[in-house]
Amino acid sequence: MKKHSFSKIRFVVYLVFLCVVSWFLFNSLLNRQSTIMYSYFIEKPAGYNLERAERLASSIYQSFKSEVPSPTIDNIQNFIGKYNDIPFLSVNFIYRDSNGMMNSILKDVKEIDILNAEYVYPIKSGNKEIGTLLIYDINKEYKKGLAEYSHMINITRIFFAILLFLLLGLLLYREYSSRIEEQKRIAEYKAVHDGLTGLHTHKYFKDILAHEIDRSKRYKHPISLIMCDIDHFKQFNDTLGHLAGDKAIQTVAKIILGNVRTSDIVARYGGEEFAILLLETGFEEAKNIAKRLKTLTDQAVEIAARIKNEVSSTPLKVGRTEKHITLSMGVASFGGNENYKSEYLISEADRALYESKNNGRNLITLFNPETQQFEKHV
Ligand code: GH3
Ligand code: MG
Ligand code: MG
Repeated sequence: MKKHSFSKIRFVVYLVFLCVVSWFLFNSLLNRQSTIMYSYFIEKPAGYNLERAERLASSIYQSFKSEVPSPTIDNIQNFIGKYNDIPFLSVNFIYRDSNGMMNSILKDVKEIDILNAEYVYPIKSGNKEIGTLLIYDINKEYKKGLAEYSHMINITRIFFAILLFLLLGLLLYREYSSRIEEQKRIAEYKAVHDGLTGLHTHKYFKDILAHEIDRSKRYKHPISLIMCDIDHFKQFNDTLGHLAGDKAIQTVAKIILGNVRTSDIVARYGGEEFAILLLETGFEEAKNIAKRLKTLTDQAVEIAARIKNEVSSTPLKVGRTEKHITLSMGVASFGGNENYKSEYLISEADRALYESKNNGRNLITLFNPETQQFEKHV
């Protein structure tokens, strides 16, 4: 649990760090963009000042008068094309066409901007006013643009900050709920699994056995139970220590799991005692009940023999020495008859195990359901 809370703190620190880094990156990008915008559009060109702009505007007007003595639209257009090269002034001309519609030489100027020119010179041809020469100080226009742009940048910043907070919140929430789920899963696992071996617990085994006996009666799926107990384990512990004993229990659990199907249930029934429930789901229903039970018990004894032999031939390393342990086993089977109870199966397998102990240990004893007698298997 301590490890968990540490990694949780680390996770939050990572997230906050990522948010701060992306915030700085995002902000520096915005700032760089504003700098570019400012230097291109707002910063006054070298040598700009208001009086000079006024002087220039007036000299443009004078030039207009001298250079466009006959103000036709074509001539005006040429003039405007020539004078629009000045970096901080912009020249335009508005007039009414033959239909009385307002027209502008510069086509991409908004109507509202047309009316905002700083320098306005009405142009006459003879006594008739033919239009207006407009000269703009374009820096003023762009200043308005910058204000709008800064506003947009601030909105973008707020939007990004909200997005980061939402993302952070979502990630933290997901992490929090997945941790709760994980803790729940661990608690559920611990409730039905033994800590030392990872096998099922005694209680889970009892519950599942009762359930499987019911299923067996309903669907005629026979089941077998093998009970095993390590021989002279007290002595093993006393001479080699409890740690070596724990290792031996783990080794036996591993060997059992290696010899049964994943659908079978293996439990640590007591300290050094194991219960194996073989679920014969694929078992063919033979007409002859006795024959069926014989096949069933033969299969269970065969599995028990495999486990017993592997355990007795597996050396357990204790320090520099190697030790061997043996198992005593009891086998019982249930063919599916009514009135049967789970306790009967446990009691039959347990008594068979006792028989193995009484007959010298390292043995398999079968409780034959047909004859109701114990049969010894070496
Ligand atoms: P038998 O052949 O009759 O079964 O003899 P035994 O010594 O194995 O039987 P007994 O019931 O007298 O002793 C069982 C021993 O198992 C006693 C106990 O210290 C040991 N044991 C039980 N659980 C554990 C465990 O989790 N770890 C270790 N190391 N030993 C355990
Ligand atoms: Mg024992
Ligand atoms: Mg025991």
